[in-house]
Amino acid sequence: MKIENYVRDIQGFPKEGILFKDITPLLNDPIATKECLNVLIESLNGQKIDKVVGAESRGFFFGILLAQELNAGFVPVRKPKKLPYETISATYELEYGTDSLEMHTDAIKKGDKVLIHDDVLATGGTAKAVCELVEKLGGEIVQCNFLMELTFLNGREKIKDHPIFAAITY
Ligand code: 5GP
Repeated sequence: MKIENYVRDIQGFPKEGILFKDITPLLNDPIATKECLNVLIESLNGQKIDKVVGAESRGFFFGILLAQELNAGFVPVRKPKKLPYETISATYELEYGTDSLEMHTDAIKKGDKVLIHDDVLATGGTAKAVCELVEKLGGEIVQCNFLMELTFLNGREKIKDHPIFAAITY
């Protein structure tokens, strides 16, 4: 099974000039999804994980699956003003301007072993902000993993202090 076969290229989404990697065909296939989950799990080599942190919103799909498989808690990281309880926030750069991400203050305890997950590592801004949130609460980042890494955008440079794994690279 090649995971690549379940990722669809969409030209010009969400705006002109962008080639978007669409993972909905993967999510639509239970066997491909399970196999992809296994690849991500195996990359951890049995390391203990207390919390899986998933970035809004496509990081939630496999984030929850990973958490269940690892017997870990799941922590959603969301766009501003979406989370109901007390939050901390981290700001990151966009092509034009900045944006922020938030996490609940009680989501991670000091010393928790944390796996960060998102669907795509592109410029690395999102992953870097998620790392900052986890570290603000004293979590120890075991790995940042992704379904896909767009290597030409060099996002791994922004999170180079942490182990990185991607099931597919482009
Ligand atoms: P970055 O912050 O690394 O530039 O962008 C990563 C974020 O943007 C991820 O949360 C990811 O969901 C989204 N993203 C960027 N490009 C793509 C893409 O081609 N396909 C998908 N599915 N998500 C993307």
